[in-house]
Amino acid sequence: AEAQLAQAQKMEAVGQLTGGIAHDFNNMLAVVVGGIDMARRKFAQGSAETGQYLESAMEGADRASALTRRLLSFARAEPLLPDSVQPDRLVQGMTDLLDRTLGERIVVHTSAGSRVWPIWVDRHQLENAILNLAVNARDAMEGEGRLDIDVRNISVGDGEAVPAGDYARIAVTDTGSGMSEAVRARAFEPFFTTKPAGKGTGLGLSQIFGLVRQSGGDIRIESEPGRGTTISLYFPRHAAAGAVRRERTIPPIATLP
Ligand code: ADP
Repeated sequence: AEAQLAQAQKMEAVGQLTGGIAHDFNNMLAVVVGGIDMARRKFAQGSAETGQYLESAMEGADRASALTRRLLSFARAEPLLPDSVQPDRLVQGMTDLLDRTLGERIVVHTSAGSRVWPIWVDRHQLENAILNLAVNARDAMEGEGRLDIDVRNISVGDGEAVPAGDYARIAVTDTGSGMSEAVRARAFEPFFTTKPAGKGTGLGLSQIFGLVRQSGGDIRIESEPGRGTTISLYFPRHAAAGAVRRERTIPPIATLP
């Protein structure tokens, strides 16, 4: 538990640092993009060569902004658009995409408990997170294996790995290479990657960490070198949409003070 607390504090500090840098960097990029845009207009009738230079400068700036956006979402400085989501249905809706992404030699299997609790999360970002986990799993399986995504309700008591409470848990299991303890301990750090340059950015898991924490949930990795990995996302149970709507109903005049 102590190691976990130290890990959480470290991630908090890394998050603050990253968020600060990404935020300032984004502002500087806005100046760069604005400058290129002005130059493009001015030199619209200039040489084709000038146009080419400006085009590639703009492409570079666009890539840099995409990177800062990912950093900001890790640092939880990017606004989310949460909504009541049925996680079992969301995963079910992704099976075709996952089949296509993972290829024929990786079997994708999804399962869900009955009446999975709704959760309050940015739907688009959760889909992104699951796709990211699946791509990591594919990379760890070297073309062949099995990916399992299991969605179910979990009531956690005191003294467990995640804080006590009711959660919908999305567990993604692969039969890949697994992680050593050293890799597992650093896997959530931004820019930490064991993949060759150009293949890994080391931002996938840090971004997912940010999403889960911002949604009031938690994330756990269990892994065994040579056997495979399970990454579990815990999202707090969200009160039914109907109940929320009732709460917001204006009370009848007679009961107003
Ligand atoms: P990236 O995929 O760009 O390397 P991530 O943050 O998603 O960045 O992952 C960080 C590292 O964690 C990976 O480089 C890899 O070493 C390890 N990792 C992540 N998912 C898995 C997995 N399913 N199996 C084995 N190792 C993994």
